[in-house]
This record gives sequence, C-alpha cells and structure tokens, in this order.
Amino acid sequence: MDAFRYTRAERIEDAIAASGPATRFLAGGTNLVDLMKSRIERPEHVIDISRLPLGTIEELPGGGLRIGALVPNSDCANHALVRKRYPLLSQALLSGASPQLRNMASVGGNLLQRTRCYYFMDDAFDACNKRRPGSGCAALEGRNRIHAILGASESCIATHPSDMSVALAALDAVVVAQGRSGTRRIAFADFYRLPGDTPSRDTNLEPGELITAVELPRNAFAERSHYLKVRDRASYAFALVSVAAALDVQDGVIRGARVALGGVAHKPWRALESERLLIGAPVEPRAFDVAALACVAGAKPRRDNAFKVELAQRAVARALRSAGGIA
Ligand code: SF4
Repeated sequence: MDAFRYTRAERIEDAIAASGPATRFLAGGTNLVDLMKSRIERPEHVIDISRLPLGTIEELPGGGLRIGALVPNSDCANHALVRKRYPLLSQALLSGASPQLRNMASVGGNLLQRTRCYYFMDDAFDACNKRRPGSGCAALEGRNRIHAILGASESCIATHPSDMSVALAALDAVVVAQGRSGTRRIAFADFYRLPGDTPSRDTNLEPGELITAVELPRNAFAERSHYLKVRDRASYAFALVSVAAALDVQDGVIRGARVALGGVAHKPWRALESERLLIGAPVEPRAFDVAALACVAGAKPRRDNAFKVELAQRAVARALRSAGGIA
C-alpha cells in the first residue's frame, strides 16, 4: 500500500470540499482498502466519511423508502420496511459476500465496488484499460469466463460485481448525489456506464460527488419477486449470472414486470424485451420461457463465456417462475 493522507470528515460539506482528483471517500472500506493494498487504487488523500449522518432508512411520502448511503448492507437487508416492501433488495443483499463483509459494507460503497476481472485485480498485467487507460485489454484474448456477453466494447469486457445493484435496477431506484454545485438525483438507468472507449469510468458521478442516499419508489412487486444468483460455489462468490425478477399480477394477468441481470454486463442489465413480452401474459411457464429467451438479445459471447447465454435464459425462466409462485 502506498502512503496517503487521512482525514475524517464531520460534515457532508467538508467531505465534498476536501475532495479532488486524487482523493477517495472511505466508508466501510471492504473494497477500497483491498484495492489500495494491492496498489490498484493509489489515492493521495483518503477522506473518512463513516461518521457522516447518512446511516438511516426513512419512509418517503407516497410509500417509497430513502436509504442512507452509510447504512450497512446487513442492516438494509434486515430492515423491516425493506423486507416488507422490497424483499427483492433484501434477497440480493443477503446473497452477496459474507456476514462479516455485509456488516461493514455500506450501500453507497456497494454501488461503487469495482469489477473483479482477473486482469484488473492484478497489477502485474500491463494491459487493462480500466486500470491503465490506453493499455489494452488482456481479457479479450485471455481468460474471459466471468466476463460480459452484453454491452461490452473492444476496450473492456468487464462485468459489474454487485448483487444489490441488480435489484436496484429492477426496482427503478434513484441515486442521490451531492457535489459542490448541489444535490442531484440520478435515475438508476443513468447511473452506471457501459465501457465504450472510456472503461476507466464505471459511473456517471462527477469528480467529488458523494452518494448520500438511494431512493426506492413505491411499487406493486412486493408480493411477487425473486433474486436468483448462479455462482461457482454456494456462498462468498460473485455471480456468473444473477436475475432480479418482479411481477405485478392482477386477475391472473401480468400488468407489470421487471427483469434485471447481473454478471453479464458492465452494469446491471435490464432485459427490456423480456419485460415487454411479459406484459399482458398469463402467469404460466410458457410465458416465462418465451420472455426468458429474449433476455440476451444481442449477446456477444467470448471464447470462454458462451455458456452464459443459455445460463441467463434458464436463470430468467426460473426466477420468473419463483416470482410467479409456480416454481
Ligand atoms: Fe481491464 Fe476491462 Fe479488460 Fe478486464 S475486461 S482487463 S477490467 S479492460
């Protein structure tokens, strides 16, 4: 780990004022500190934000929730209102990492965790456009079993590792960020970036902006939703493919549907065509199978990860059946 300056912020405004190009905000530290130890991240200045007043979950007018950025993942997953109104989020959070990590990791930090691409995580590899812009991408011709099949570019084929973010994509969350010029609310669909030719940027946050909360709008999915995570071992592993599925069913007919995929792209991937096919369909396996086939439209698998195409389709079908109560 390189030497760095450390300060602890007592106010949100102080943290933002102190931030700059070579600073990092430290909350739970479960990803940042690891990356600093392996010298993937080398901030000159670490601003500890863990004492800021961003650790509560509050009801919003109209039935939504506002989750503070410093709420630990475990507290969020086990909060009575999250479990009641957004069980999909609770399931996704509890499928990630380990109990110890969930106790430390914050909601804001979970949003900002970096890819676990082997070549990004190991500074011994020179070619990684995300870590070293312009250096190339070792994964294109290297081992790419865990990499993206959707939305990738020739600059980067990394996937986003967060389970929580897949559920938040399905729930149409809003990220609240505060910067020097004020506070803005970012629709979840606009929060993450596809790699394009600037894969070093994971999100559309501006330099110095601090995530202060995530807001969840009221929805009708609490009764019928399911998070399915497929991975190489039963716990403490990142998703090969994950699915956040949610249905709004009235009189046996699907009136609303959300399908988001993890482990397949640089950001949580909304399967919009699958959602469209589900609207107006009956709650039947055949409808779920048809929607599932469409979830990977446009997929471009690489040498080692073609299995993700069928895996994603099967996972979507299974998650929809579970959500629909016909598993
Ligand atoms: Fe780096 Fe992205 Fe290529 Fe992995 S896939 S080596 S993160 S550029």
